[in-house]
Parts: sequence; structure tokens; C-alpha cells
Amino acid sequence: MTCTTQSDPGLPDEPVGATEAPGFATRAVRAGQRRTEEGEHAEPIFTTSSFVFSSAAEAAARFAGEVEGNIYSRFTNPTVRTFEERLAALEGGECCVAAASGMAAILALCLGTLEAGDHVVVSRSVFGSTSSLFSKYLARFGVATTFVPLTDPAAWEAAIGTRTRMLFCETPSNPLTEMADLRELAEIAHRGGCRLVVDNCFCTPALQRPLELGADVVVHSATKYLDGQGRCVGGAVVGDRKLVGEAVFGVLRTAGPTMSPFNAWVFLKGLETLELRMQAHARAAEQLAHWLDAHPAVARVHYPGLPQHPQHHLIGAQQRSGGGIVSFAVRGARAEAWRVIDSTRMISITANLGDAKTTITHPATTTHGRLSDAERADAGITESLLRVAVGLESVADIQADLARGLAVS
Ligand SMILES: *Cc1c(COP(=O)(O)O)cnc(C)c1O
Repeated sequence: MTCTTQSDPGLPDEPVGATEAPGFATRAVRAGQRRTEEGEHAEPIFTTSSFVFSSAAEAAARFAGEVEGNIYSRFTNPTVRTFEERLAALEGGECCVAAASGMAAILALCLGTLEAGDHVVVSRSVFGSTSSLFSKYLARFGVATTFVPLTDPAAWEAAIGTRTRMLFCETPSNPLTEMADLRELAEIAHRGGCRLVVDNCFCTPALQRPLELGADVVVHSATKYLDGQGRCVGGAVVGDRKLVGEAVFGVLRTAGPTMSPFNAWVFLKGLETLELRMQAHARAAEQLAHWLDAHPAVARVHYPGLPQHPQHHLIGAQQRSGGGIVSFAVRGARAEAWRVIDSTRMISITANLGDAKTTITHPATTTHGRLSDAERADAGITESLLRVAVGLESVADIQADLARGLAVS
């Protein structure tokens, strides 16, 4: 667990020197690194389970918490700490703790901050496992959940009761890219005496920083854009010292779903190119969205960067650009949607996202396949819908690959 003292993160496109704090790109490359006496340039991977002490007295002092230092890698590890400090610096948070996966991060946050009898309000449009974690598992331990539509502030407000501790959302949502107004949600949360938690997986701090907009906690699946090349599973929680540095860290070090030093190192390297990659993903996604929008075989395109998107006004004010995810409905139903997928030769058929390689999925039969027909209809996930996580290949090649299956019959 790592707590930084960096409080003014500045805007990513601000020139270095405009504020006291280094610019976003500089923090992405350099924050958190402590060089050892070997003088290494790149961050080392500390693959060690435990750490040695110079004496019995030093061991006793570290175990007693009187002296700071590493004891065991389930508690702290220098490579993991560097990743935590870097991500905290990018999100503008006081403290970050890394976890073995995005889901482990969310679980640790819940175990560290909720108790039996508490209530949480969760967006209906959250990642499938997040939804099950609340409705199926936390429910067994006495934590009740109310699911509300992401973009309906009145529903969030109305769902808050006396035992409500947390509002939890993802914005933009998967796969329809609906956006919540985070400033407004933060006000609603604080008026109701609860915390706003934002899963910032789709935007990353390169495009959106929820803590600056009033959110209290950010969670990440580092598996996606923070890695950026589809190699490792990991997660993180960012927030203040007391909540994250004590409550969440306490759960992680005790229960044990911690991040491995190797994975932390891969994510560190990912963070160094995060801003460049996110800009490139978003540029390509925007181009693709406009192309799809003009295609006669496409019925509807969901992308925050398109002027007809219902929350397009939040671009710039909340989110720096539309991001890398584009969803669209083909004219027709399942057969027409599947034909687009099965006609691809380059795009990877996988439900993962945030990779240099473009991926395509049919949400109704994969990521949202376990919902009932009524729930799917309610969520707007039709049989004709496809989701593309736009990668870093040439946009012309992505278009050509989709065009084959989109041929008008
Ligand atoms: C993938 C994902 C998660 C879960 O992360 P894992 O690393 O797979 O555990 C949580 N939230 C969102 C938005 C995701 O896309």
C-alpha cells in the first residue's frame, strides 16, 4: 500500500512547470520510482516473497509497525508499491492499493468499508461480475443492493436510505457508452451521507479523473487499458489515506488477493504509454464511429464522441474524449450481427477490451448472456448489437474488416 503526498495533479495537457506538480505524462513515466544502489534505469522486479532484517530488534520493530519497511510480499512489495504510487499520482489520489484483479479490488473495497445491515446503490449497467458480487455474494453477508439506471439522477437519489453507504457506477457504461454526470452523482452521494465509487476502467485517468469531479474512490481493472496489451490480470483502489490506506489495505494484506510483482511491473510499463495510447484509441474509435454512422447496414451507433449521443455535452467537461469503445446495432437481428463477427479476418473475437488488438463481441450472447430476455431488453442490449474495442491497428484495416460482414443484402 502506498500513500503519496501529491495533491495537485494538474491537467494532462498542461505544460510542465505550469503548476508545482509535474505534468500527467511526466508522472506516468516517472512517479513512484526509487532507484536502488545498482543504478538501474528501468524499474526492477522484486520477485521475493519475504524480506530480511539486519537484527532481531529490527524484525520486532517492523512487525510492531514502529519502523516502516517490507516484511512479506502479501503486505507490501517494492515493485507493486511503484505501480501504486504511479497510479495514485495519475488519478490525483492520496493513496492506492493494488489487487490481484479488478474484481479483487472491488471485493476488498466492499469488505473494508461495508458491514451487515448496510445498503449500496449500484448502476444497472456495471460489469457482470460486479453486479453478481453485489446481488449474489455480498447479499449473503447482509449487504443489500438497489440497482438503478445509470443516467437517472432522481433514481439514485430516491434509492438512498439511512443505511446506504456507497453509490457505485461505471461511466461510460458497457456496451452502450452511456455516461453519468459524476459531479451531480457526487453531490447526490454526499447529500445522502454516502461515498461515490467510480470504476474508471473505460476511460483511465488519461481521459477522466473522477476524484477531481467529486468522487471518493476510484477502482480499476488494470487488466484492460492500464496494461494495454492484454497480458496480465490486476486491479487497484485509489482514494484517501484512511479509507484506502487503512481499511482496504487491511483487507488485502489479511485476505491475500494481492498483485504479483511481475504483473505490477507490466502495468508500470503500460502506464508509461497510457496517455498516448488512450489518445490513439479514442482518435481511431471516433473515426470508426463516424464511418459506421454513415454505413447503410448500420441502424445505430453508440459513441460519446458523436454529436447525437445523449450525454455528448459531457465530453470536455468530464471526459476528455469519447474513449476507445464503440457499439453499434446492425440492421437485422442476431444472424446479421453474427455475420459481421464471422466475416472478420483480423479483428479478434473476444470479450476483452483495452488491448492494442481490436476486439469484437456480441454482448447479448457473451458478456450479457446470463441476463433474462426482459433484463436485456431493459438494458438496451439487442440481438443486433455489437461492441468493438478499437485497438491501435490502422483504422482503414479495421473498417475493411468490418465492411465485409456489413455488406447490404
Ligand atoms: C474487466 C472489468 C472488471 C473486472 O476486472 P478483472 O480484472 O477482470 O477482475 C471490472 N470492471 C470493468 C468495467 C471491467 O471491464
